[in-house]
Amino acid sequence: MKSKYDMLVIGGGPAGALAGKTAAEKGLSALIVEKRPAIGAPVRCAEGIGKEALCEFIDPDPRWISAEMTGATIVAPDGFVMKLGSEMAGSKVGYVLDRKIFDRELVWKAAEAGCDVTVKSRAAAPILEDGAVKGAKIEHAGKTTDVRADVVIAADGVESKFSRWCGIDTTVPVREIMSSVQYVMTDIDIDEQSTVFYLGNEVAPEGYLWVFPKGKRSANVGIGISGKKSGEGHRAKDYLDRFVKKTFPEGKTIEYIPGGVSVCRPLANTAADGLLITGDAARVVDPLTGGGIYNAMYTGRLAAEVAAVCIGKGDVSRKALMMYDRSWRESKLGKSIERNYLIKEYVIKLPDTKLNEIIHSVSNINMKEFSTINLIKEIIRVNPKLVLELGVLAASLR
Ligand SMILES: Cc1cc2nc3c(=O)[nH]c(=O)nc-3n(C[C@H](O)[C@H](O)[C@H](O)COP(=O)(O)OP(=O)(O)OC[C@H]3O[C@@H](n4cnc5c(N)ncnc54)[C@H](O)[C@@H]3O)c2cc1C
Repeated sequence: MKSKYDMLVIGGGPAGALAGKTAAEKGLSALIVEKRPAIGAPVRCAEGIGKEALCEFIDPDPRWISAEMTGATIVAPDGFVMKLGSEMAGSKVGYVLDRKIFDRELVWKAAEAGCDVTVKSRAAAPILEDGAVKGAKIEHAGKTTDVRADVVIAADGVESKFSRWCGIDTTVPVREIMSSVQYVMTDIDIDEQSTVFYLGNEVAPEGYLWVFPKGKRSANVGIGISGKKSGEGHRAKDYLDRFVKKTFPEGKTIEYIPGGVSVCRPLANTAADGLLITGDAARVVDPLTGGGIYNAMYTGRLAAEVAAVCIGKGDVSRKALMMYDRSWRESKLGKSIERNYLIKEYVIKLPDTKLNEIIHSVSNINMKEFSTINLIKEIIRVNPKLVLELGVLAASLR
């Protein structure tokens, strides 16, 4: 670890790894600091990602793919099962990763490109001069070292504190934090090639419960419910335990993973003087699905690309770095986050009877390819009266 870099990256998750790798490839000196003793552990993720999305960043490798998905199943509140088979889902459905290995691979690639990496190294405070971010104080092996950088990338995940320390408002309303618990279970009867989503206020209020296969008779079995719905006797774990007892009574839980996912709109501001905010720290998780691996990699890479240009021009002011903020907001990713936020806000208010009605009505449709947007289009086509209820959203999809 040196005392000065072009770019300092806080956090060694997918956002930080892509930022570090891209910076090194652009010829910048860069350092990733990760507070945990090991990259990728503990895993706080159901590990699902679309095939095409993943391939935008890295070639699939069996070393870190636990299972390949060819379909998806949605279980309505009344128990009705809607299957989205491979013919509908096409050849691009997705993977369930092994993130312990996947995250390491991403950081390994950053290191290979020339980025420095240090673990058990926590960014404890920013170095601020005249309001501009100039680096961070890094705690490592009982010592605090000043590491200065032209640009700091905050990639410190959902628990992010760094941007707040730099004066950015990172507050997430309680109702927009999904309280999540996941078990890695084995010895369970599952369809090993299909993800399953259970919906309904009895199962997962304002959220959903998932079973993501991890290979032979094993799966990530988890739940996310709105923080506002959580309380004594009805916490995420209570719902999950009830489900597991009923659905997988003989299953064995080999890992317990608590966690939180923000399903709010992204931060109003993801750039400051000398600072860019990426991934979960920027709250760019898909508010409808809670998926954030792709979004983290996308914003991590983009942040480093913009930082490289700005460093090259000798201007790392907020004004110059705002190119990053504008680019991701105007991208397909930024637009889909906004759209899915509106869909989420609509869906969580639906009573179970309405959800049942919608799932029944779309179960026989023949989508060429399954995607959130195609599903919503079909829902509106089959239920034209929803156009009025969905208002702005429906209009934007036409
Ligand atoms: C239960 C659950 C299920 C999920 N399932 C899915 C899914 O199936 N698919 C999907 O796409 N997404 C899923 N997600 C979301 C996904 O895990 C995140 O969106 C993704 O990991 C974000 O990547 P990131 O790099 O922004 O943050 P992270 O992966 O959280 O990485 C941030 C890193 O920063 C480090 N850090 C924090 N503070 C500091 C500091 N001060 N100094 C140094 N290091 C620091 C942390 O230790 C961490 O390693 C799920 C999340 C949860 C909680």
